[in-house]
Amino acid sequence: MAEFSLQLNEDQLQIQKWVHDFAETVVRPVAAEWDEREEFPWPVVREAAQIGLYSFDFMANAMMGDSTGLTLPLALEELFWGDAGIGLAIFGTGLAAAGIASNGTPEQLLEWVPQCYGTPDDPKLGAFCVSEPDAGSDVSSLRTTAVYDEAKDEWVLNGTKAWITNGGIADVHVVVASVDRELRGRGQASFIVPPGTKGLSQGQKYSKLGIRASHTAEVVLDDVRVPGRCLLGGKERLDERLARAREALKNPQKSGTGGQPAMSTFEATRPAVGAQAIGIARAAVEYALEYAKERKAFGKPIIQHQGIAFMLADMATEVDAARLLVWRAAWLARNGSYKWAEGSMSKLKAGRVAVWVTERAIQILGGYGYVKEYPVERWHRDAKIYDIFEGTEQIQQLVIARAMSGMRIE
Ligand SMILES: Cc1cc2nc3c(=O)[nH]c(=O)nc-3n(C[C@H](O)[C@H](O)[C@H](O)COP(=O)(O)OP(=O)(O)OC[C@H]3O[C@@H](n4cnc5c(N)ncnc54)[C@H](O)[C@@H]3O)c2cc1C
Repeated sequence: MAEFSLQLNEDQLQIQKWVHDFAETVVRPVAAEWDEREEFPWPVVREAAQIGLYSFDFMANAMMGDSTGLTLPLALEELFWGDAGIGLAIFGTGLAAAGIASNGTPEQLLEWVPQCYGTPDDPKLGAFCVSEPDAGSDVSSLRTTAVYDEAKDEWVLNGTKAWITNGGIADVHVVVASVDRELRGRGQASFIVPPGTKGLSQGQKYSKLGIRASHTAEVVLDDVRVPGRCLLGGKERLDERLARAREALKNPQKSGTGGQPAMSTFEATRPAVGAQAIGIARAAVEYALEYAKERKAFGKPIIQHQGIAFMLADMATEVDAARLLVWRAAWLARNGSYKWAEGSMSKLKAGRVAVWVTERAIQILGGYGYVKEYPVERWHRDAKIYDIFEGTEQIQQLVIARAMSGMRIE
């Protein structure tokens, strides 16, 4: 087990600089353009693939080859400092990869995660499909079904997924579906839908407030047939889990029914999502600081007015506090799991800080903060998603409150 330390090692410092350089020279200069176009930024993703930033190897090393757990948050903070929409276009596949890693066998991970990324010359995309039009926070009430056709050893998926990052344009879709609706969350399983599978199509593409370079769409599953080996974790493990859940339903006093597939993925990715929010917030602090040193009002730079200086001091303090929570959660996730609800705490704090800090940055820039000529209004629009996806603000509070109290809180 690695010691928890804030001292970054040589490799981490190099990765941090490498991603920062990419964010500064490739991502930032085109961020406003892709936000305006609201299209998937393929040229930037291809460039990220060419240098190895968008690759299975990078994700595998950052997620599994790092005993401190800090490499991924470090890289994400730098990338999202460049731009969150483009950042998510590059990192969105990581959600599918995490879904496979959390629920699949090692063989399934090695078969499917490389296919999510493709090659440097021909990058591919992955999508993680949980949410539905009537089931976002309440993941246990998913309506998408998976029915086993024993004669053909195939699963048949039917339903509609909503709000899916890379939905419909991905090559590999990871779909969470209900195998036994009576068991609610405990009757769900995750499935790979391989590239080119018939019956999967893109529904509406959403037009969004922020992170507009990231593609978000519905995914329609109409009698989608996938081979038995596409069930993540395998049939034997699912049958055992279902048997335990049915037993628990008959006998509610008994516990130990195993977790929901979607929830285990979200727990694993929360610090990484928090790190993205911190990237946006840090960008806003840096920008507002420089602006405040230059802009003059009442005969002096506005930073020399205490009202502005103290705002900046609070902004920097909040960003650092959020980063410490993210690093702690990332370290715990890698070194023996959470003792509390540290992943949710880190994501809750980072999302709130990003929204608050970017709003303050607009305030510091005054009228210039409110117009598209300057990036802070975009950062504020981008930041808001961190209160919503991967568990809303209220869902994080729910998880934390349950962990604190040990009680069922609805
Ligand atoms: C841009 C974008 C990208 C996304 N990408 C993906 C993706 O790749 N894959 C995926 O599966 N999903 C994705 N989502 C979906 C996202 O995770 C959901 O939108 C989110 O979980 C909230 O669900 P909902 O929108 O249905 O809101 P609801 O669950 O309907 O919530 C509405 C409001 O009620 C509150 N609320 C709900 N339950 C409670 C409660 N028990 N106590 C207190 N308050 C409560 C919520 O906090 C919220 O404020 C994405 C969403 C967006 C907007």
